Amino acid sequence: MRGKLTVVVTGAGGFIGGHLVGQLVRSGVKVRAADIKPLAEWYQVHRKAENHAGPRKGDCRDFRVCRTLCDGADEVYQLAADMGGMGFIENNKALCMLSVLTNTHMILAAQEAGVDRFFYASSACVYNADKQKNVNITALKEADAYPGLPEDGYGWEKLFSERMCRHFREDFGINTRVARFHNVYGPHGTWEGGREKAPAAICRKVIAAIITGRHEIEIWGDGNQTRSFMYIDDCLKGIDLLAHSDILEPINLGSSELVSINELVSIAERIGGVTLRRHYKLDAPKGVAGRNSDNTKIHEYLGWEPDTRLRVGMERTYRWIHDEFTAKYTAKTAHKSSISTFTKGSHPIPGDGYNPASQHMDTWTQGIPAGYGAPKKRARKPRVVKRAKAVARKRTA
Ligand code: NAD
Repeated sequence: MRGKLTVVVTGAGGFIGGHLVGQLVRSGVKVRAADIKPLAEWYQVHRKAENHAGPRKGDCRDFRVCRTLCDGADEVYQLAADMGGMGFIENNKALCMLSVLTNTHMILAAQEAGVDRFFYASSACVYNADKQKNVNITALKEADAYPGLPEDGYGWEKLFSERMCRHFREDFGINTRVARFHNVYGPHGTWEGGREKAPAAICRKVIAAIITGRHEIEIWGDGNQTRSFMYIDDCLKGIDLLAHSDILEPINLGSSELVSINELVSIAERIGGVTLRRHYKLDAPKGVAGRNSDNTKIHEYLGWEPDTRLRVGMERTYRWIHDEFTAKYTAKTAHKSSISTFTKGSHPIPGDGYNPASQHMDTWTQGIPAGYGAPKKRARKPRVVKRAKAVARKRTA
Protein backbone atom coordinates (compact mmCIF):
# COMPACT_ATOMS: atom_id res chain seq x y z
CA MET A 1 0.00 0.00 0.00
CA ARG A 2 2.68 2.49 1.10
CA GLY A 3 4.66 1.68 -2.01
CA LYS A 4 2.10 3.50 -4.13
CA LEU A 5 2.28 6.76 -2.21
CA THR A 6 3.94 9.93 -3.47
CA VAL A 7 5.62 11.74 -0.62
CA VAL A 8 7.26 15.17 -0.52
CA VAL A 9 10.16 15.99 1.81
CA THR A 10 11.32 19.60 2.02
CA GLY A 11 14.67 20.48 3.57
CA ALA A 12 15.86 17.19 2.04
CA GLY A 13 19.42 18.45 1.62
CA GLY A 14 19.65 19.04 5.37
CA PHE A 15 20.38 16.75 8.27
CA ILE A 16 17.00 15.27 9.23
CA GLY A 17 15.55 15.61 5.70
CA GLY A 18 18.43 13.63 4.19
CA HIS A 19 17.88 10.76 6.63
CA LEU A 20 14.11 10.90 6.17
CA VAL A 21 14.34 10.65 2.39
CA GLY A 22 16.59 7.60 2.82
CA GLN A 23 14.08 5.95 5.14
CA LEU A 24 11.16 6.68 2.79
CA VAL A 25 13.01 5.53 -0.33
CA ARG A 26 13.87 2.28 1.43
CA SER A 27 10.21 1.81 2.39
CA GLY A 28 9.31 1.84 -1.30
CA VAL A 29 7.35 5.08 -1.61
CA LYS A 30 7.94 7.56 -4.41
CA VAL A 31 9.80 10.51 -2.91
CA ARG A 32 10.06 14.09 -4.13
CA ALA A 33 12.93 15.67 -2.25
CA ALA A 34 13.38 19.45 -2.28
CA ASP A 35 15.95 21.86 -0.92
CA ILE A 36 17.02 25.38 -1.82
CA LYS A 37 20.67 24.27 -1.72
CA PRO A 38 22.27 23.03 -4.94
CA LEU A 39 22.47 19.24 -5.04
CA ALA A 40 26.23 19.32 -4.55
CA GLU A 41 25.68 20.77 -1.07
CA TRP A 42 23.09 18.24 0.14
CA TYR A 43 24.38 16.08 2.97
CA GLN A 44 22.85 13.01 1.39
CA VAL A 45 21.63 12.50 -2.17
CA HIS A 46 19.31 9.56 -2.77
CA ARG A 47 19.31 8.79 -6.46
CA LYS A 48 16.00 6.91 -6.25
CA ALA A 49 14.24 10.10 -5.14
CA GLU A 50 13.10 12.82 -7.52
CA ASN A 51 15.43 15.61 -6.40
CA HIS A 52 14.38 19.25 -6.74
CA ALA A 53 17.48 21.24 -5.88
CA GLY A 54 18.64 24.83 -5.90
CA PRO A 55 16.92 28.23 -5.72
CA ARG A 56 14.95 27.74 -8.95
CA LYS A 57 13.49 24.27 -8.34
CA GLY A 58 13.81 23.77 -4.61
CA ASP A 59 13.06 27.09 -2.90
CA CYS A 60 9.84 26.49 -0.98
CA ARG A 61 9.36 30.18 -0.30
CA ASP A 62 8.29 30.25 -3.95
CA PHE A 63 4.63 29.22 -4.24
CA ARG A 64 5.14 27.90 -7.79
CA VAL A 65 7.79 25.48 -6.51
CA CYS A 66 5.42 24.35 -3.73
CA ARG A 67 2.65 23.71 -6.26
CA THR A 68 4.92 21.60 -8.44
CA LEU A 69 6.07 19.61 -5.42
CA CYS A 70 2.58 18.99 -4.04
CA ASP A 71 0.87 18.17 -7.33
CA GLY A 72 -0.48 14.62 -6.98
CA ALA A 73 1.27 14.05 -3.66
CA ASP A 74 -0.24 12.06 -0.78
CA GLU A 75 1.95 13.21 2.09
CA VAL A 76 4.18 16.21 2.80
CA TYR A 77 6.98 16.36 5.36
CA GLN A 78 7.67 20.05 5.87
CA LEU A 79 11.21 20.22 7.26
CA ALA A 80 12.68 23.14 5.30
CA ALA A 81 13.76 25.96 7.59
CA ASP A 82 16.48 28.54 7.68
CA MET A 83 18.01 27.49 10.98
CA GLY A 84 21.01 26.33 12.95
CA GLY A 85 22.31 26.06 16.52
CA MET A 86 22.10 28.81 19.15
CA GLY A 87 24.90 30.78 17.47
CA PHE A 88 22.81 31.03 14.31
CA ILE A 89 19.30 31.54 15.66
CA GLU A 90 20.29 34.20 18.20
CA ASN A 91 22.04 36.23 15.51
CA ASN A 92 19.65 35.71 12.56
CA LYS A 93 16.15 36.29 13.92
CA ALA A 94 14.74 37.88 10.77
CA LEU A 95 16.00 35.03 8.59
CA CYS A 96 14.49 32.51 11.01
CA MET A 97 11.12 34.29 10.83
CA LEU A 98 11.21 34.22 7.04
CA SER A 99 10.67 30.45 7.19
CA VAL A 100 7.03 31.48 7.61
CA LEU A 101 7.00 31.92 3.81
CA THR A 102 8.07 28.31 3.32
CA ASN A 103 5.54 26.97 5.81
CA THR A 104 2.67 29.10 4.51
CA HIS A 105 3.26 28.34 0.84
CA MET A 106 3.79 24.63 1.43
CA ILE A 107 0.60 24.17 3.46
CA LEU A 108 -1.40 26.25 0.97
CA ALA A 109 -0.10 24.19 -1.95
CA ALA A 110 -0.68 20.94 -0.05
CA GLN A 111 -4.23 21.89 0.79
CA GLU A 112 -4.89 23.01 -2.80
CA ALA A 113 -3.51 19.72 -4.16
CA GLY A 114 -5.64 17.64 -1.77
CA VAL A 115 -2.65 16.18 0.08
CA ASP A 116 -3.84 13.80 2.79
CA ARG A 117 -1.13 14.27 5.45
CA PHE A 118 1.00 17.28 6.25
CA PHE A 119 3.74 16.71 8.83
CA TYR A 120 5.31 19.82 10.31
CA ALA A 121 8.66 19.85 12.14
CA SER A 122 8.25 22.23 15.05
CA SER A 123 10.72 22.72 17.87
CA ALA A 124 11.17 22.79 21.64
CA CYS A 125 12.06 26.46 21.03
CA VAL A 126 8.30 27.18 21.14
CA TYR A 127 8.24 26.70 24.92
CA ASN A 128 7.68 29.58 27.30
CA ALA A 129 11.10 30.96 28.29
CA ASP A 130 9.96 31.55 31.89
CA LYS A 131 9.72 27.77 32.35
CA GLN A 132 13.34 27.28 31.34
CA LYS A 133 15.18 29.71 33.60
CA ASN A 134 16.62 27.10 35.91
CA VAL A 135 19.14 24.34 35.13
CA ASN A 136 17.16 21.96 37.38
CA ILE A 137 14.00 22.34 35.36
CA THR A 138 10.86 20.28 35.31
CA ALA A 139 10.63 18.66 31.89
CA LEU A 140 8.49 20.63 29.43
CA LYS A 141 5.05 19.27 28.77
CA GLU A 142 3.07 20.25 25.70
CA ALA A 143 0.84 22.75 27.56
CA ASP A 144 3.93 24.75 28.58
CA ALA A 145 4.01 26.45 25.18
CA TYR A 146 1.33 28.84 26.44
CA PRO A 147 1.07 31.62 27.39
CA GLY A 148 3.37 32.28 24.45
CA LEU A 149 6.89 33.42 25.26
CA PRO A 150 8.99 31.35 22.87
CA GLU A 151 12.57 31.78 21.66
CA ASP A 152 12.68 35.16 19.98
CA GLY A 153 12.59 34.89 16.17
CA TYR A 154 12.93 31.15 15.49
CA GLY A 155 10.54 30.03 18.26
CA TRP A 156 7.85 32.57 17.44
CA GLU A 157 7.83 31.49 13.81
CA LYS A 158 7.53 27.83 14.82
CA LEU A 159 4.67 28.59 17.22
CA PHE A 160 2.85 30.57 14.53
CA SER A 161 3.29 27.79 11.96
CA GLU A 162 2.07 25.18 14.47
CA ARG A 163 -1.13 27.15 14.87
CA MET A 164 -1.43 27.56 11.13
CA CYS A 165 -1.35 23.74 10.84
CA ARG A 166 -4.10 23.50 13.43
CA HIS A 167 -6.33 26.04 11.70
CA PHE A 168 -5.79 24.51 8.25
CA ARG A 169 -6.86 21.19 9.74
CA GLU A 170 -9.90 22.63 11.48
CA ASP A 171 -11.01 24.92 8.65
CA PHE A 172 -9.94 23.01 5.52
CA GLY A 173 -9.72 19.40 6.68
CA ILE A 174 -6.08 18.69 5.78
CA ASN A 175 -4.61 16.15 8.21
CA THR A 176 -1.81 18.09 9.85
CA ARG A 177 0.53 16.48 12.37
CA VAL A 178 3.05 18.46 14.41
CA ALA A 179 6.09 17.24 16.35
CA ARG A 180 8.20 19.43 18.61
CA PHE A 181 11.74 18.14 18.06
CA HIS A 182 14.19 18.47 20.96
CA ASN A 183 17.86 18.79 19.82
CA VAL A 184 18.38 16.12 17.19
CA TYR A 185 21.92 14.88 16.54
CA GLY A 186 23.72 12.18 14.58
CA PRO A 187 25.89 11.61 11.50
CA HIS A 188 25.33 13.49 8.23
CA GLY A 189 24.57 16.84 9.85
CA THR A 190 26.27 20.21 10.15
CA TRP A 191 29.44 19.95 12.23
CA GLU A 192 31.17 23.27 11.47
CA GLY A 193 30.55 26.63 9.82
CA GLY A 194 28.25 28.32 12.38
CA ARG A 195 24.97 26.39 12.04
CA GLU A 196 26.08 23.30 13.96
CA LYS A 197 24.42 22.27 17.22
CA ALA A 198 26.13 21.51 20.54
CA PRO A 199 26.76 17.72 20.14
CA ALA A 200 28.43 18.14 16.73
CA ALA A 201 30.34 21.26 17.79
CA ILE A 202 31.67 19.53 20.89
CA CYS A 203 32.71 16.41 18.95
CA ARG A 204 34.54 18.62 16.42
CA LYS A 205 36.30 20.61 19.15
CA VAL A 206 37.48 17.46 20.93
CA ILE A 207 38.70 15.93 17.66
CA ALA A 208 40.48 19.16 16.68
CA ALA A 209 42.10 19.39 20.11
CA ILE A 210 43.46 15.85 19.82
CA ILE A 211 44.72 16.35 16.27
CA THR A 212 46.41 19.69 16.93
CA GLY A 213 47.75 18.59 20.30
CA ARG A 214 46.31 21.72 21.94
CA HIS A 215 44.41 20.04 24.71
CA GLU A 216 41.92 22.82 25.38
CA ILE A 217 38.24 23.34 24.65
CA GLU A 218 36.04 26.43 24.54
CA ILE A 219 32.57 25.92 25.99
CA TRP A 220 29.74 28.38 25.40
CA GLY A 221 28.27 29.61 28.70
CA ASP A 222 29.29 28.13 32.04
CA GLY A 223 28.55 24.59 30.87
CA ASN A 224 25.91 24.07 33.55
CA GLN A 225 23.01 24.66 31.15
CA THR A 226 21.01 21.43 30.75
CA ARG A 227 19.48 19.84 27.68
CA SER A 228 18.31 16.51 26.26
CA PHE A 229 19.48 15.23 22.88
CA MET A 230 17.62 12.86 20.56
CA TYR A 231 19.50 10.52 18.24
CA ILE A 232 18.47 10.69 14.57
CA ASP A 233 17.17 7.09 14.42
CA ASP A 234 14.67 7.89 17.19
CA CYS A 235 13.66 11.06 15.38
CA LEU A 236 12.90 9.10 12.17
CA LYS A 237 10.91 6.49 14.04
CA GLY A 238 8.96 9.23 15.82
CA ILE A 239 8.21 11.09 12.58
CA ASP A 240 6.79 7.94 11.01
CA LEU A 241 4.70 7.04 14.07
CA LEU A 242 3.36 10.56 14.58
CA ALA A 243 2.67 11.30 10.92
CA HIS A 244 0.47 8.20 10.71
CA SER A 245 -1.14 8.56 14.12
CA ASP A 246 -4.37 10.22 15.17
CA ILE A 247 -2.55 12.67 17.43
CA LEU A 248 -3.91 16.06 16.49
CA GLU A 249 -2.07 18.28 18.96
CA PRO A 250 1.62 19.26 18.72
CA ILE A 251 3.62 16.66 20.61
CA ASN A 252 7.12 16.42 22.10
CA LEU A 253 9.56 14.31 20.13
CA GLY A 254 12.71 14.26 22.21
CA SER A 255 14.82 12.28 24.61
CA SER A 256 14.23 12.71 28.35
CA GLU A 257 17.86 11.91 29.25
CA LEU A 258 18.93 15.24 30.75
CA VAL A 259 22.61 16.27 30.72
CA SER A 260 24.54 19.46 31.30
CA ILE A 261 26.79 20.76 28.53
CA ASN A 262 29.74 19.95 30.80
CA GLU A 263 28.57 16.32 30.93
CA LEU A 264 28.18 16.29 27.16
CA VAL A 265 31.81 17.44 26.85
CA SER A 266 32.87 14.67 29.24
CA ILE A 267 31.11 12.08 27.06
CA ALA A 268 32.96 13.33 23.95
CA GLU A 269 36.24 13.37 25.89
CA ARG A 270 35.74 9.78 27.00
CA ILE A 271 35.06 8.71 23.39
CA GLY A 272 38.23 10.49 22.25
CA GLY A 273 40.23 9.24 25.21
CA VAL A 274 41.35 12.68 26.44
CA THR A 275 40.76 15.22 29.17
CA LEU A 276 40.87 18.82 27.97
CA ARG A 277 41.40 22.12 29.78
CA ARG A 278 38.03 23.88 29.67
CA HIS A 279 37.59 27.57 28.88
CA TYR A 280 34.16 29.07 29.36
CA LYS A 281 32.98 31.79 26.99
CA LEU A 282 30.33 33.39 29.15
CA ASP A 283 29.14 35.94 26.58
CA ALA A 284 28.54 33.34 23.83
CA PRO A 285 24.96 32.46 22.75
CA LYS A 286 23.79 29.72 25.11
CA GLY A 287 19.98 29.67 24.96
CA VAL A 288 17.78 28.89 27.95
CA ALA A 289 19.23 27.63 31.26
CA GLY A 290 17.52 24.24 31.18
CA ARG A 291 15.29 22.24 28.88
CA ASN A 292 14.05 18.67 28.88
CA SER A 293 11.26 16.78 27.15
CA ASP A 294 8.30 15.51 29.19
CA ASN A 295 7.39 12.31 27.36
CA THR A 296 4.21 11.42 29.22
CA LYS A 297 1.99 12.16 26.23
CA ILE A 298 3.99 10.40 23.53
CA HIS A 299 4.19 7.41 25.84
CA GLU A 300 0.46 7.44 26.45
CA TYR A 301 -0.31 7.69 22.73
CA LEU A 302 2.35 5.47 21.20
CA GLY A 303 3.70 3.35 24.05
CA TRP A 304 7.16 4.51 22.97
CA GLU A 305 9.61 7.35 23.47
CA PRO A 306 13.06 8.09 22.02
CA ASP A 307 15.39 5.77 23.92
CA THR A 308 18.85 5.73 22.33
CA ARG A 309 21.32 6.43 25.14
CA LEU A 310 23.32 9.61 24.62
CA ARG A 311 26.65 7.78 25.02
CA VAL A 312 25.72 5.40 22.18
CA GLY A 313 24.48 8.11 19.79
CA MET A 314 27.41 10.38 20.58
CA GLU A 315 29.89 7.64 19.79
CA ARG A 316 28.40 7.13 16.31
CA THR A 317 28.27 10.88 15.74
CA TYR A 318 31.84 11.37 16.97
CA ARG A 319 33.18 8.69 14.66
CA TRP A 320 31.40 10.18 11.66
CA ILE A 321 32.64 13.72 12.41
CA HIS A 322 36.10 12.35 13.00
CA ASP A 323 36.12 10.80 9.52
CA GLU A 324 34.71 13.98 7.96
CA PHE A 325 37.25 16.11 9.79
CA THR A 326 40.27 14.05 8.84
CA ALA A 327 39.10 13.73 5.22
CA LYS A 328 38.35 17.43 4.83
CA TYR A 329 41.55 18.70 6.40
CA THR A 330 43.57 15.72 5.26
CA ALA A 331 44.54 15.50 8.87
CA LYS A 332 46.02 12.44 10.42
CA THR A 333 43.80 10.27 12.55
CA ALA A 334 43.12 11.84 15.91
CA HIS A 335 43.24 8.84 18.13
CA LYS A 336 43.09 5.13 17.71
CA SER A 337 39.83 4.90 19.62
CA SER A 338 38.14 7.36 17.29
CA ILE A 339 38.90 5.52 14.07
CA SER A 340 35.61 4.59 12.52
CA THR A 341 34.79 0.94 12.79
CA PHE A 342 33.16 1.24 9.39
CA THR A 343 35.94 2.87 7.44
CA LYS A 344 39.04 2.23 9.56
CA GLY A 345 39.65 5.96 9.39
CA SER A 346 40.44 6.08 5.69
CA HIS A 347 37.36 7.70 4.17
CA PRO A 348 34.09 9.25 5.34
CA ILE A 349 31.40 6.70 6.04
CA PRO A 350 29.81 5.99 2.67
CA GLY A 351 26.32 5.71 4.16
CA ASP A 352 23.32 5.17 1.99
CA GLY A 353 23.04 8.26 -0.13
CA TYR A 354 26.13 9.86 1.35
CA ASN A 355 27.32 12.76 -0.76
CA PRO A 356 31.11 13.01 -0.52
CA ALA A 357 31.21 16.37 -2.29
CA SER A 358 29.12 18.08 0.37
CA GLN A 359 31.95 18.04 2.89
CA HIS A 360 33.91 20.58 0.87
CA MET A 361 31.08 23.01 0.50
CA ASP A 362 29.37 25.42 2.74
CA THR A 363 29.18 28.21 0.27
CA TRP A 364 25.46 28.57 0.06
CA THR A 365 23.93 31.64 1.63
CA GLN A 366 20.21 32.05 1.96
CA GLY A 367 19.28 35.58 2.99
CA ILE A 368 16.20 37.41 1.78
CA PRO A 369 14.46 35.67 -1.14
CA ALA A 370 14.78 37.22 -4.58
CA GLY A 371 11.96 39.58 -5.39
CA TYR A 372 11.43 40.80 -1.84
CA GLY A 373 14.44 43.12 -1.84
CA ALA A 374 17.22 43.02 0.71
CA PRO A 375 16.92 45.52 3.56
CA LYS A 376 19.04 48.52 2.67
CA LYS A 377 21.42 49.85 5.26
CA ARG A 378 20.45 53.46 5.73
CA ALA A 379 23.44 55.73 5.58
CA ARG A 380 23.41 58.30 8.34
CA LYS A 381 22.74 61.72 6.97
CA PRO A 382 25.65 63.89 8.02
CA ARG A 383 23.31 66.85 8.61
CA VAL A 384 25.18 68.30 11.54
CA VAL A 385 28.47 68.11 9.67
CA LYS A 386 26.86 69.71 6.59
CA ARG A 387 25.44 72.56 8.65
CA ALA A 388 28.74 73.06 10.43
CA LYS A 389 30.54 73.19 7.06
CA ALA A 390 28.02 75.74 5.69
CA VAL A 391 28.49 77.93 8.76
CA ALA A 392 32.25 77.70 8.39
CA ARG A 393 32.00 78.66 4.67
CA LYS A 394 29.82 81.69 5.54
CA ARG A 395 32.32 82.79 8.13
CA THR A 396 35.28 82.58 5.77
CA ALA A 397 33.33 84.29 2.91
P1 NAD B 1 19.07 21.57 8.46
O1 NAD B 1 19.48 23.01 8.50
O2 NAD B 1 20.14 20.55 8.37
O3 NAD B 1 18.05 21.34 7.27
C1 NAD B 1 17.12 22.30 6.88
C2 NAD B 1 17.19 22.37 5.37
O4 NAD B 1 16.17 23.27 4.91
C3 NAD B 1 18.52 22.92 4.86
O5 NAD B 1 19.14 21.96 4.02
C4 NAD B 1 18.14 24.15 4.08
O6 NAD B 1 18.89 24.31 2.92
C5 NAD B 1 16.67 23.88 3.75
N1 NAD B 1 15.95 25.10 3.45
C6 NAD B 1 16.01 26.29 4.09
N2 NAD B 1 15.23 27.18 3.48
C7 NAD B 1 14.65 26.53 2.44
C8 NAD B 1 13.73 26.93 1.45
N3 NAD B 1 13.28 28.18 1.37
N4 NAD B 1 13.34 26.02 0.54
C9 NAD B 1 13.81 24.73 0.59
N5 NAD B 1 14.70 24.32 1.51
C10 NAD B 1 15.10 25.21 2.43
O7 NAD B 1 18.15 21.34 9.74
P2 NAD B 1 17.61 20.00 10.38
O8 NAD B 1 18.34 19.81 11.65
O9 NAD B 1 17.62 18.91 9.38
O10 NAD B 1 16.12 20.43 10.75
C11 NAD B 1 14.99 20.03 9.97
C12 NAD B 1 13.73 20.63 10.57
O11 NAD B 1 13.62 20.23 11.94
C13 NAD B 1 13.72 22.15 10.60
O12 NAD B 1 12.43 22.62 10.35
C14 NAD B 1 14.10 22.50 12.00
O13 NAD B 1 13.60 23.75 12.41
C15 NAD B 1 13.46 21.35 12.77
N6 NAD B 1 14.13 21.12 14.05
C16 NAD B 1 15.38 20.61 14.10
C17 NAD B 1 15.99 20.41 15.31
C18 NAD B 1 17.38 19.83 15.40
O14 NAD B 1 17.89 19.70 16.52
N7 NAD B 1 18.03 19.47 14.31
C19 NAD B 1 15.33 20.76 16.49
C20 NAD B 1 14.07 21.30 16.41
C21 NAD B 1 13.46 21.47 15.19
